[in-house]
Amino acid sequence: MSNTKGVRQGRTRRPSSAEPVDGRVLVTEADRTGSADAEYDPEYARMVEAQLGMLGEDPEREGLRRTPVRVARAMRWLTRGYELDVERVVGGAVFESESENMVMVRDIDLYSLCEHHMLPFFGKVHVAYIPDKHIVGLSKLPRIVEVFARRLQVQERLTEEIARAIEQVLKPKGVGVVVEASHLCMMMRGVEKQNSKTITSALRGIFRSDGRTRDEFLRLAHNGGAASR
Ligand code: ZN
Repeated sequence: MSNTKGVRQGRTRRPSSAEPVDGRVLVTEADRTGSADAEYDPEYARMVEAQLGMLGEDPEREGLRRTPVRVARAMRWLTRGYELDVERVVGGAVFESESENMVMVRDIDLYSLCEHHMLPFFGKVHVAYIPDKHIVGLSKLPRIVEVFARRLQVQERLTEEIARAIEQVLKPKGVGVVVEASHLCMMMRGVEKQNSKTITSALRGIFRSDGRTRDEFLRLAHNGGAASR
């Protein structure tokens, strides 16, 4: 087999050998499905197997036997943002436009992992900008969110990174980003009330300097959110 089969590319930690410890499961399953999302890091799977043992579980019992591979695959998917970059995601989808009206995409689904506990946080992202001669394909805004959400994150940095990326790609007159999310690390551990949401925002350019633009954006972001629930 190829020495990269089933092994994640482009990460710093790579197995020194492509030969997984548990060859009977690790290799055959990746080979059988052959799709990109079937790839995983065998070293990661071995680590999960060890982790199961440390939790007091028997990694060999029926229900857990394939869990290390499943987790390795899932974690690869959940952190695929490390392999994405904004330039590539946006591609050529920046167009000239004379419009100076606010462009807003509301309720972009957000799924991320908090970097403190590696537990999910999830919610919605609202993104807006005011063009300065350039607009971007609307479908690209959720993809920009993905680049940063599919990594280990804190919500505050995620919000800033999305705003900064849109600013760099479009050089718009202004950018606004609001993220509202629920954090399982708070909910499951009983740190905060079950239904609490964390709201963060990043305002740049005219969204910061012009009160009317800012108010319009925040009204659209927050009121729309309240109405849809
Ligand atoms: Zn956390």
